[in-house]
Amino acid sequence: MIADVDDAVAARVLELRRAIHKHPELGFEEHATAALVEAELDRLGIAHRRLAKTGVVGVLRGASPGRVAALRADMDALPIQERTSLPFASEVPNVMHACGHDAHTAMLLGAAHVLAAQRERFVGSVVFLFQPAEEGPGGAQPMIEEGALDDPPVDAVAMLHVDTRIEAGVVSITPGPVNASADELRIVVRGKGGHGASPHTAIDAIPAASAIVLALQNIASRETDPLGSVVVTIGTINGGYRNNIIADEVLMTGTLRAHDPVLRSQLEDRVRRIVEGVAAAYNARAEVQVTYGYPPVVNDAELARDFAEIAEREAGVLVKALPPTMGAEDFAYFAQRVPGVLIRLGIRNEASGAMHPGHSAEFQIDEAALPVGVRTLVAFATAVAGGRLPRESARS
Ligand SMILES: [Zn+2]
Ligand SMILES: [Zn+2]
Repeated sequence: MIADVDDAVAARVLELRRAIHKHPELGFEEHATAALVEAELDRLGIAHRRLAKTGVVGVLRGASPGRVAALRADMDALPIQERTSLPFASEVPNVMHACGHDAHTAMLLGAAHVLAAQRERFVGSVVFLFQPAEEGPGGAQPMIEEGALDDPPVDAVAMLHVDTRIEAGVVSITPGPVNASADELRIVVRGKGGHGASPHTAIDAIPAASAIVLALQNIASRETDPLGSVVVTIGTINGGYRNNIIADEVLMTGTLRAHDPVLRSQLEDRVRRIVEGVAAAYNARAEVQVTYGYPPVVNDAELARDFAEIAEREAGVLVKALPPTMGAEDFAYFAQRVPGVLIRLGIRNEASGAMHPGHSAEFQIDEAALPVGVRTLVAFATAVAGGRLPRESARS
């Protein structure tokens, strides 16, 4: 087994994870976290540079030239008041590492420890991407624009995300789409106000908006292939003034999600046609605005399959291929540029309280899974840098 994590590294990962957990920082405010990452890379003799404000890129060059592997961890926390009684619970009011990015950062530093120790005999290079603001507005894209994947030029990239749906220590690697696109929808329905007792003198925006909400369900239920995944959710609806006044305007917001980039690109037109058509049927007018967010994460199928085998054989991890989710991840941008794999790391352990979903105030992880994550990252870096992944056929 090449990807060995000794007790000293495992203990350091635990220590780092808890230190980061105690002092969570929101997107593009990860100053202390970035400084901690830089200090740890300095200790390991790994050169680093700053990108995208609070992003850190470390580069480890092995003893002989080879390919370049990149490993990515996100560093930001969420605006949530932690409700666990952990001894290392957040000391910052209303900020919490409730998505596990503290663990991602600590595991990536753990992988840096293991790989730096092998530097004398290591073939190829490893780029460590410590990314800000995954939870929004997005740190991946600015890092790429500032050259994170170019110096040295990366051949393949991987990331881990902890997952409370998966038993601790089990890893999930799924070929193809794993996360969805997430685009924001804003609809304004305009009618004409009037007295609630005289509907015939007004144009009521509320029934028009109601009909629009129902008609939009047709996109997922009737218009698109049931085997392709699409979500159209209206999350807010606001309009009106008082019980006896006819509303002249209703504002609705929602989210559009899809796995298939082609299907995603068709959603705006479908929404527009339905919204404008239904509004016209109700004698109202409507405006649609779509703000494009993260694209879908598509794991390179061959890379994912090949790495799943390597992870089992060389990192000694149990690998499953769990179904994709409709959540979003800005790792998508890295995986659009070079072959990429999003790996899910199981952290569920009901006995220790690790079963609350990500983004919940009670979120916890089973820390016993952390060395498994480190081994998985090390196995990926070693296989890519050493030239076994991605296969030559996949590289164009
Ligand atoms: Zn999250
Ligand atoms: Zn996350």
